Amino acid sequence: MLAAEEAIEQLWGVTLDKLYDSTEGQRILSCIQCGTCAGACPYGEHMEYPPRKIITMLKAGLIEDVFDSDSLLKCVNCYTCMSKCPRNIRLTEILLPLVKEQTAVRLSHMPQELHKAIENTYRYGNSYGESGRKRMLWTQTLDFPIRILADDPHPVDILWFVECDLAYHPRGQDIARATAQLFHLLDMDFATLGYEEHCAGDCGRLTWEPGLAETLIDYNLAMFGKYKFQRIVTNDPHALDAFNFRYPMFEFRGKVLSTISLLHSHIDRLKPMLTERRDMRITYHDSCCLGRHNAIYEEPRQLLEAIPGVSLVEMVHNRSNSICCGGGGGGMWLDTYYKSLGMERLSDRRIREAIATGADVLAVACPYEVSRFEDAVKLAGYEHRMIVRDITELLIEAIGGH
Ligand code: SF4
Ligand code: SF4
Repeated sequence: MLAAEEAIEQLWGVTLDKLYDSTEGQRILSCIQCGTCAGACPYGEHMEYPPRKIITMLKAGLIEDVFDSDSLLKCVNCYTCMSKCPRNIRLTEILLPLVKEQTAVRLSHMPQELHKAIENTYRYGNSYGESGRKRMLWTQTLDFPIRILADDPHPVDILWFVECDLAYHPRGQDIARATAQLFHLLDMDFATLGYEEHCAGDCGRLTWEPGLAETLIDYNLAMFGKYKFQRIVTNDPHALDAFNFRYPMFEFRGKVLSTISLLHSHIDRLKPMLTERRDMRITYHDSCCLGRHNAIYEEPRQLLEAIPGVSLVEMVHNRSNSICCGGGGGGMWLDTYYKSLGMERLSDRRIREAIATGADVLAVACPYEVSRFEDAVKLAGYEHRMIVRDITELLIEAIGGH
């Protein structure tokens, strides 16, 4: 397979009718119809056209039929098919987004929640439909200030791209505060775009609307251009994905890190701070973007193991075999739709695996997952036996005095 950078170059401006003009597009012709993609897909059994069949239709010149199907409304961009394909076909990065964007144009019944999220993002720069002025409200209970570049524009090391879930969702705000406290305690030089930040436009959830994704990318790139910083850090693996795999098509060449990787690079300084013993059995959920797509598997585990008293237990499906929480690719706004079709939420499926480990804590590193799994724990009737925590929260709880 080509290096990601080279593949990204090739993808610029690719459309379905010009798919075979690129090496990565031509690779689709090497499909051996093994069905691994369909079999591995967590919602494959609900799709009239799983990836294997989409390729058949494409080759047969019948792709128009796929556009009229709601199959890809059930694709949560989990990268499982792509990671398992023996021909290394970039299904989740290339083929599925191109089909999704055509489907979005044709669908007569875009589910209401997804439609609303897209509309909100157009209007407000975030799917919550909240004012940009409220982006920094989560900082009010902190006992130190968070620097906002518009107010204090001198150069900074880390531009912390907070993203919408951390800025607006109550549980996301807890994670934002825990992260800010960690950065502060580690004496990092960081600042945010504050009320100037807009949704990163991650390719997964917004490939339904490539025009919106491009608008957001143009906007955020203009913001990046206003300030001087060394690197971008984000807690949101979907934003990390957008910066790593979509923004380069718009000539963005900045250095981007996940918050997990940044914290891990300071693990030797963190360890002496983790003085509160936490006798807990923790199971860690590998998020699709952080794990399968960016191969960050060991760093989160090593951060958790740095907490005194913690023992890690693995779920049956872990690392590259992890099961998606169901929030990607627009899935955050499709729960009601899936329910109407009698489909099980993937977070409910995943939580059964977590419970089976006997763990007290399900640790996560993606803002979508906290609320999705907390809901699933409640539904399973396990709220008194298992809690869901972001890794940043567990770290800050293990630091004395917090
Ligand atoms: S896994 Fe790859 S080779 Fe097999 S059917 Fe799917 S796309 Fe084709
Ligand atoms: S990305 Fe995931 S949900 Fe989408 S088709 Fe592939 S395996 Fe299925």
